[in-house]
Amino acid sequence: MSTLVIGSGITGMAAALLLAQQGEETTILEAAPSPAPLLRGFERDNLHFDTGFHCGAGLRQGGLLRLWLQTLGMMDFISDDACYPMQEEFHFPSDGDGTVSDVAHFPATLDDLFPTVSAQFGTQAANNLKQLVQDMLGVIRHSPYTNPHSDAELQFSFSRASRLHDVLIRAQLPPRLTRMVQARCSLYGVAPHMAGFHEFSLVGGLYFDSSHGLHGGGTTLRDAALAALKRANVPVRCHARVTHIRHSNNRIEGVELSNGESISCTRCIFTGHPGQLIHILDKGALRPAFFRHITEMRETMQALLVFGITRNPALQGKTVFLMPPDTVDEQNLLAPLEQPAPLVYLICGDGLNGHFPITLISPTQQSFPADSPTPRSDAYLRWKRAATARLVQYARSRLPEINDLRVLDAASPLSLRQWITGSTGSLYGLAHDIETLPLFPVIRLKGLFLAGQHILLPGILGGIISAAVAVGLATSHDSVLQGFRQWTRNV
Ligand SMILES: Cc1cc2nc3c(=O)[nH]c(=O)nc-3n(C[C@H](O)[C@H](O)[C@H](O)COP(=O)(O)OP(=O)(O)OC[C@H]3O[C@@H](n4cnc5c(N)ncnc54)[C@H](O)[C@@H]3O)c2cc1C
Repeated sequence: MSTLVIGSGITGMAAALLLAQQGEETTILEAAPSPAPLLRGFERDNLHFDTGFHCGAGLRQGGLLRLWLQTLGMMDFISDDACYPMQEEFHFPSDGDGTVSDVAHFPATLDDLFPTVSAQFGTQAANNLKQLVQDMLGVIRHSPYTNPHSDAELQFSFSRASRLHDVLIRAQLPPRLTRMVQARCSLYGVAPHMAGFHEFSLVGGLYFDSSHGLHGGGTTLRDAALAALKRANVPVRCHARVTHIRHSNNRIEGVELSNGESISCTRCIFTGHPGQLIHILDKGALRPAFFRHITEMRETMQALLVFGITRNPALQGKTVFLMPPDTVDEQNLLAPLEQPAPLVYLICGDGLNGHFPITLISPTQQSFPADSPTPRSDAYLRWKRAATARLVQYARSRLPEINDLRVLDAASPLSLRQWITGSTGSLYGLAHDIETLPLFPVIRLKGLFLAGQHILLPGILGGIISAAVAVGLATSHDSVLQGFRQWTRNV
């Protein structure tokens, strides 16, 4: 069997590593000039800025993400002291214009959660949150891909029976504590009233288990994956854009690249945006219902990202949420930049020589051209300059710690589209909310599997688990899970 993995993001690299562990001949094809364009981040003024990875949930010893990185062999190339704790700070405006804030926070580890919350909100609130967190972390016990001790049947999607909204009402948390939990919906681009409890638990909930940054950020993850791929003799071919997936008699035969090259395979794992499949598969290869489903699926929010540096170390190792006023309802919690008091979150990464990189992220409602025109139009450049200035001014007014922020770059949905083939420019790809039916990793065409943030959940963990499920379907679940289960002694 020879497998082609399309895409070298975390999902593609994870899938290729798992296949190689089973002795499968595997090659990764990536359209971009270098591997993992979203994950790797970039450098400006000698500082590393992250794009696709700032903070990981479950990276502690024995945590779920750590177990999967061990299973993939990536932890062999990441030193234990590369992980550092990341705290979350929530700034609630306490006056009319938001220049004064009440600050509350969640700590980086579960052990510190209850004393911290108790000190801020009282014992009753801490106890109620404790019950809620137990329920959230209980969700990961249900699947053999999230719990190495489980031999439960595999389910391809999460239960949509319970909504985060209803669970939070039952939890009876103080309003601001409820807000802090809801703000984590921004980490996967779903408005709180649209969030399913199970999906939320695996993204927002798992940050209660533990929350860590990595020195070197996404580059550390990319380099660890590339080192593990090299050890496993898996080639990663860049500048290799797949333009056509060949098949006959309903079975995959190979792919064609934009340079005209044709490569045969018996299996293919596609990790890009499913909307792009429509363009690289022959008409009729997809069932009409599946075709319609892909075209009708909602995207997560679009966002403006601003990258700058500060000399103030106060925010290092923190994710900060600038919360809208308490009067804003949950439907509007992820209010875009165009609104008077938008939710903005910012992450402060590793500093160098007293300079600290800051990434500001704010949803935006701006509409963009369908393609990614180069050069950009004057109107677009004017919008980007003005929106960047507005975001920075707003963040500075809410957070005096970044008064000295020097802007080095900004990224709009057009930038995301340009970096990542198939990206629509939304922050986290297809939405995983209670109204959207998930896509299955298998389709009518035999030998073709779908994986990645669009299929299961966004995030490094979502990508890895999705890759594992796809490889499990392509080979056998037992052989994939065998590797994962051997790490249980550390749990
Ligand atoms: C600003 C931002 C911050 C984030 N922060 C975090 C965080 O702190 N923690 C976290 O866990 N997650 C975070 N995420 C989410 C996380 O980065 C993504 O969910 C994850 O990286 C997606 O990985 P993927 O492999 O599924 O997709 P991608 O990384 O998009 O990989 C798909 C790859 O396929 C390639 N491709 C597509 N079509 C073709 C084709 N036809 N031929 C060849 N190649 C093709 C693309 O070029 C791309 O490289 C963040 C995301 C963003 C945007």
